[in-house]
Amino acid sequence: MKTVVITGASRGIGSKAAQALSDAGYRVIINYLHSESKANALADSLKEAYPYKADISKADDVKAMFDYVRKRFGGTDILVNNAGVSHIGVFQLMSDEEIARVLDINLKGAVLCTKYALPDMIKKHSGIIINVASMWGEDGASCEVVYSASKAGIIGFTKALAKEVGMSGIRVNCVSPGVIDTDMNKELEPDTLSFLTNDIPLKRIGLPSEVASVIRFLASNDSSYLNGITISVNGGMVM
Ligand code: NAP
Repeated sequence: MKTVVITGASRGIGSKAAQALSDAGYRVIINYLHSESKANALADSLKEAYPYKADISKADDVKAMFDYVRKRFGGTDILVNNAGVSHIGVFQLMSDEEIARVLDINLKGAVLCTKYALPDMIKKHSGIIINVASMWGEDGASCEVVYSASKAGIIGFTKALAKEVGMSGIRVNCVSPGVIDTDMNKELEPDTLSFLTNDIPLKRIGLPSEVASVIRFLASNDSSYLNGITISVNGGMVM
């Protein structure tokens, strides 16, 4: 049985990805930070799933998580770098701490998880890495400047790493969601949400399960010749 580590799998897109990959027959490591009861409940509802608490922005936590996966399950076969946070506000009003938080979780976190998962994959000459970016990383959003930069970084990281580790039998791809119905958007004013929805050609926001099904595709052999690409899952809002 292949082992998948999904960061930020306690809620939202990550939890639906955990469900989809469990249904597809993988063992799932549900990484979380604060939502312990949700992570535990999700693990209980899936066939073979294990919650693991780690702050992905902290190298020691990340190293310990991948050491645990190696010792207990023989290593990580698939990594989904999903955990992320947003910050909406004028760039110049962001504190240094707010800037660091977004970059440390969204970009450094994915880089660290990849660094500590890769040795298992290189050893097996096989592996799949799926990064979760955002349409704002493709297009850029006013008042989400650092978030956009972190996600543009994820897309660049995907492309460069795909070139470096392809020869080791490892594929690296990216999913880039649009506006998705998760906690991340729960603080948007109804007016902002309807303005955004009006801009989406499909005239609705997406479901986390609609991103999860693309993650499942990228984790499967059906995408065996895809490497270094970004799949936009945004209802046609950003092309
Ligand atoms: P969400 O519902 O807010 O869930 C975020 C997840 O990230 C939670 O499971 C949270 O875990 C985890 N997390 C946050 N900081 C963490 C840390 N330091 N270490 C480990 N886990 C951490 O968000 P979502 O909407 O599902 O977003 C998932 C990904 O999709 C993110 O990368 C986001 O940027 C991207 N995305 C989302 C949208 C959207 O519209 N929703 C659009 C484009 C891209 P705990 O609760 O356990 O702390």
